[in-house]
This record gives sequence, C-alpha cells and structure tokens, in this order.
Amino acid sequence: MQFCRRPGWWTVDEAEAVVRAGLAERMMLELSPDRSYGVLSPAFRGCECLYAVQEYSKYGCTFLLHGRCDLHGSGKMPLECRFCHHDRRGQGEICHAALEQDWNTPAGQALVERWQRLTGFWKRGINLRMRDTLKSL
Ligand code: SF4
Repeated sequence: MQFCRRPGWWTVDEAEAVVRAGLAERMMLELSPDRSYGVLSPAFRGCECLYAVQEYSKYGCTFLLHGRCDLHGSGKMPLECRFCHHDRRGQGEICHAALEQDWNTPAGQALVERWQRLTGFWKRGINLRMRDTLKSL
C-alpha cells in the first residue's frame, strides 16, 4: 500500500487495454523530466484526466479503495505494481527505466494523443494553465 501513494506504471500495451476497458477517465498524464514525452498512469485521486501535479499526490492512487487495489485480479493492474514492486524487489529503478523506454516511443505517444482526444484533456483549463507554466520554465 505504501507504493500506492505513487501509482505504478502500465506498459503501453497494458494502458491501451485499460483505455479500451473504459477506464481512460481514471488516468493522468505524467511528463518525463525533460518534458519530451508523456506517460499515462493511474491518477492520483482528484487528478483524473489532468497532468500529474504534486498537490494531489497526497491522496494516493485513484484505484486504492478501502486499502485494496480495485484493479487486483482484473488483469488491468500495472506491471510496475504487480511485478516490479513485488517479484523484483531492489530492481525498481531498472524496471521503471524500462517502462520509461516503452513510453518514449511512437506507439506510446500515439496512445497519449488518443487519450487526450478521448478525454477532452485540452478542454480542461487546469491543463492549459499547466502547459503554459511548463513552457515558461
Ligand atoms: S493500480 Fe493498484 S496497486 Fe497500483 S498504485 Fe494503484 S491501487 Fe496501488
């Protein structure tokens, strides 16, 4: 549960299946440190369909309900949650880096764009303000 304060990441293929399952509105968009690519991840509670912003991180993952993962057993739990944090203890950074590489691809960024269209991401004022802030940094 400690890991659920910082939601784990899906692979691109997993995230696509989650979008197809109708859960796009439970995701948020994380940006790489250099802001060159994005990653769709389970949202912080209250941060659904928004950029991942620090203010919401204290609320933890939107799929954590009553101390349990709502995705457990559904086949939709992110690889980083079910595998990297448990079966590969101590190798979290390597696992996370591999997931970053998976997202930093044409397929990964095409899915981000599709998700943005599907959820009306750019129609949310907070995202536009965040984009302007990021541009000015
Ligand atoms: S998807 Fe499930 S296991 Fe992963 S961070 Fe969210 S609640 Fe925790």
